[in-house]
Amino acid sequence: MPLPIINQAFNLANQTTILDTPIEYVKGIGPSRGETFRKELNIHSVKNLLYTFPFRYIDRTKFHLINEIKADNDNIQLKGTLVTIEKIKGKSNRSRISGMFKDSTGFIELVWFQGASWLDKSLKPGEEYIIFGKVSLFNGKKTIAHPEMELLSDANIAIASSFDPVYPSTEKMDAKGLDSKARRKILKALLSSINDNDIPETLPQYIMEKLKICSAFEALQWIHFPANETQKQLATNRIKFEEFFYVQIRLLLSKMYRKYKYRSAPFNLVGDLFNTFYRTRLPFELTNAQKKVIREIRVDMGMATQMNRLLQGDVGSGKTIVALLCMLIAIDNGFQACMMAPTEILAQQHYESIKNLLGDLEVNVAFLSGSIKGKKREVILSGLVAGQIDIIIGTHALIEDHVIFNRLGLAIVDEQHRFGVAQRASLWKKNEGMAPHILVMTATPIPRTLAMTLYGDLEVSIIDELPPGRKEIKTIHKYESTRPQLIQFLHSEIAKGRQIYIVYPLIEESEKLDLQNLNDGYERLLQYFPQPDYQISVVHGRMKAADKDWEMQRFINRTTQIMVATTVIEVGVNVPNASVMVIENTERFGLSQLHQLRGRVGRGSDQSYCILMTDYKISKEGRQRIQTMVRTNNGFEIAEADLKLRGPGDIQGTQQSGLLDFKLLNIGTDRAIMDTARNIALRIIEDDPKLERPIHENIRIQVLRLRQQYKDWGRIS
Ligand code: ADP
Ligand code: MG
Repeated sequence: MPLPIINQAFNLANQTTILDTPIEYVKGIGPSRGETFRKELNIHSVKNLLYTFPFRYIDRTKFHLINEIKADNDNIQLKGTLVTIEKIKGKSNRSRISGMFKDSTGFIELVWFQGASWLDKSLKPGEEYIIFGKVSLFNGKKTIAHPEMELLSDANIAIASSFDPVYPSTEKMDAKGLDSKARRKILKALLSSINDNDIPETLPQYIMEKLKICSAFEALQWIHFPANETQKQLATNRIKFEEFFYVQIRLLLSKMYRKYKYRSAPFNLVGDLFNTFYRTRLPFELTNAQKKVIREIRVDMGMATQMNRLLQGDVGSGKTIVALLCMLIAIDNGFQACMMAPTEILAQQHYESIKNLLGDLEVNVAFLSGSIKGKKREVILSGLVAGQIDIIIGTHALIEDHVIFNRLGLAIVDEQHRFGVAQRASLWKKNEGMAPHILVMTATPIPRTLAMTLYGDLEVSIIDELPPGRKEIKTIHKYESTRPQLIQFLHSEIAKGRQIYIVYPLIEESEKLDLQNLNDGYERLLQYFPQPDYQISVVHGRMKAADKDWEMQRFINRTTQIMVATTVIEVGVNVPNASVMVIENTERFGLSQLHQLRGRVGRGSDQSYCILMTDYKISKEGRQRIQTMVRTNNGFEIAEADLKLRGPGDIQGTQQSGLLDFKLLNIGTDRAIMDTARNIALRIIEDDPKLERPIHENIRIQVLRLRQQYKDWGRIS
């Protein structure tokens, strides 16, 4: 395995370029406005300024017609004649100027509230103008207030027929005279003062030619001032491609570096435990998909390089048994295994299911979480060091420093993108000398583009099939007014011996209110399902862990028929006899969350139902989510829809990763660009891991540059 470039000593001559010029030295800025740039927008240098892109453009290539415009506050451009202009005395001495403007299709009023005396003189009735501004309603009429006016005879057609960039700004920026218009001027001057030597090309020529990508210099010019739609597209595509290409290069280099640096023990034995379990304890025939991923994992763990693998599978696809079989392989090879889950309840549940599956097999399984304290904890910790414990299952308590293994060979992380990269990485150090193999399991499927970004340095295994005999869960949207039928239906299900979940939403900022919701719901239920004939469990996030467990246990052993809960039951809970999931205020849940919740039912052989309750009033997006849920049970499809609806930033736990800080790339919609960038990056790193071929010189230099720029860019753990 070659040493990838990432760890080569490097000395990129530290030349400063025009890009490093402090912001205050830019023409038209100066010390005071420079300070405002720094404070308000974190823009410190020419480089920062140039790489703060417009978030939209005003299309100045188009002239609107007066009879077609709408008062929708959008900026529009008109060409016509200023007919009249008059001063109007308003109330309390506030005068305004009113102008009448016409084109071939009609008239519109223009108004100015200030600067009246100056305007009086400069505007010339009877002349032709290009005007530009926002249309709004004033005194019930369509009006443009404070339009930009330019005499048609003066108009520089080159400027008038382009796209005007609009930049992110703040009130203070505007107050300092640094609105989009002023910034356009500054940027125009700045961009015309640099040439293509100032903007080094970061992509190899052959790729640019093949993909018809414009140069870095062109992209910068065109992203700010595109002359036409084509330039805008070319610049946008280039920037998006480059953003993702270098994220991929980075991930692939760290993956390679990890393979180079970390050795793991090869598990070449498939021994007694695995075989015994497989032959005599397997409670069901594995699905082909399960067999396939176990094979992939076995091959990977059989090598002396560290496995880093992502296991994806829909809710209920049977990841737990796969995890267990992998852990048995580790034990067969003389190692310990651990499994970490994001919540106490989930960890506990894993512990129970794994103990259950193992039965009387001689495997020593322990549980550890923050709530295991004192003597009990000491026993576990010393059992781990001594190597008496084979499998330990727990929460992030497992990564604390004083948790020391004897020989950790495999670490499984069950997550819902909840553990950061750093937390995952801290598991690797749990074993002296050799890193454990790592298997990351996701609780719900992740869209491919998101997986490529967040887990692009991992190998991927996918369970793409559910165990046989599952009845498709029936998902139904119901309005509040049909609650009586719902209650009736719940009665009939309970009469058949089934159990029911009723889930209330939880918003963190108003936990009180949520509790109120849940408590009201509970009180109401008691009227329909009176004790002692009916028993109801209540579980919410504010309860002590022990109380939660007790309530949960009552539901699991069927003492209670109904479980009223907030989303704490979202992840992983497994009660096959529960066949109905009622979700209250459905519009307040995200799609993935709804899918997770629905996955709590349909685990047994009975027909299961998911009932989505809402009021009549739902937002458009809420309605789309509900329609998606009703339409499909496929978690991969739902994850894609979720990404499109909400964007990646809102998906749980992804914010801190830093891998998603794209300026232009949208991982919900730019899949084609991402696929191309990933494939090209893969090929390059495979063919030329040291980036030493002359055709890859631009990449090598850019990698070094990025490393210098972001200190942690190449950091591995
Ligand atoms: P998840 O992938 O959501 O973690 P689990 O591992 O909890 O899914 O499995 C869901 C349910 O399906 C469990 O009750 C499990 O025992 C059962 N199961 C798993 N694999 C199979 C299989 N091959 N055949 C039948 N049932 C299975
Ligand atoms: Mg699970």
